[in-house]
Amino acid sequence: MNTNTRIAIIGAGAAGLSLAWRLRDQGFRTVVVFEKEAQAGGKCRTLLVDGLSYEMGAIFHLRGAQPVEQMVKRLGIRTMQGTVQPRERRGVPLFDTESPRLLPNPKIPGLLRSAFRYARLRKQYPGLFDPGHHNMAAHLAMPFDEWLAKHNVAELEPLFACWTSGFGYGPNSRIPAAYGLKFCHPAMLWRIFFLKGGRCFTEGYQNLWTRVAAELDVRLNHRVSSITRGERVIIRTGAAEHEFDKVVMACDLRAIAPALDTDPEEAELISKIRSHRYHVMVAEVTGLPVRIAFVPGHFREHRKSGLLCWYHRWKEKNLHTL
Ligand SMILES: Cc1cc2nc3c(=O)[nH]c(=O)nc-3n(C[C@H](O)[C@H](O)[C@H](O)COP(=O)(O)OP(=O)(O)OC[C@H]3O[C@@H](n4cnc5c(N)ncnc54)[C@H](O)[C@@H]3O)c2cc1C
Repeated sequence: MNTNTRIAIIGAGAAGLSLAWRLRDQGFRTVVVFEKEAQAGGKCRTLLVDGLSYEMGAIFHLRGAQPVEQMVKRLGIRTMQGTVQPRERRGVPLFDTESPRLLPNPKIPGLLRSAFRYARLRKQYPGLFDPGHHNMAAHLAMPFDEWLAKHNVAELEPLFACWTSGFGYGPNSRIPAAYGLKFCHPAMLWRIFFLKGGRCFTEGYQNLWTRVAAELDVRLNHRVSSITRGERVIIRTGAAEHEFDKVVMACDLRAIAPALDTDPEEAELISKIRSHRYHVMVAEVTGLPVRIAFVPGHFREHRKSGLLCWYHRWKEKNLHTL
């Protein structure tokens, strides 16, 4: 694509801003991000209480997540160790609400065997490593938990579920294997369990995106009310009209659908998107056994209103993210 191509991006969340950053690096001259809110970050939202950051959305990034690490380095963003559990525990503790107690550490030899097996199995699907999902084998539409069980690596399910179900993507019984396999890189297990690779942003995840947005052409308070695609793309925000060559929708397609000149195929695909409400709160809590834990018993669909995880970021304050 010619670098004179004018590109509009709808949504200044992680996806829209990462894309704008990458396009700018590749020399594209006109890249404009439209954001309806007064702030950038989307679901990376940080609450500041007495100058300390509390996450209301994304919390960690893993070491080795290249695009994020590049931004962190270039902008001089401060990060800190994300895993705050006691030394004797490996990885993120799992809590059983029935007993109620922390589940024992997973047995390392068995875990390693499953992790290597999973890594080998994943290589059978070259389409996984392409952008998007269009090159996936059709049978990967099966639920991720079924795929893991079918391939004798079911013991990895609760560990992956910390990142899929625990952080709001949905239970593994509802997530297609194609998505789970793409998202759950084997290195994720390695980094979480052995290298304590989860990192947090000292000033909050949202601060990263605020800083990234400041480097780019991001129009805050610009709700896109209409998109007409043809030879040119015409975007309306309030009374203003903007002309581009391409548009990328980096937001919930259901939210933008009323503004979009959808064709029947697009409308049908968008009508299939489902989501559940997911609440994040910061509260004072006492008596919890560790500072961070996931509750795998609540990752099941029939338990979907239960607490999924807690996270106590600042030792000196009794505020927990739930
Ligand atoms: C509780 C929780 C914990 C999580 N933890 C992690 C974690 O630890 N690590 C991790 O990597 N990920 C985590 N995630 C996932 C991560 O937060 C999301 O995947 C990511 O933030 C999504 O970014 P996005 O840009 O795709 O969408 P969004 O963040 O939803 O951004 C879309 C943007 O589009 C804007 N928009 C919508 N409609 C319009 C319109 N008409 N005009 C203009 N703008 C519009 C919205 O206001 C929004 O800012 C977590 C998510 C949640 C909810």
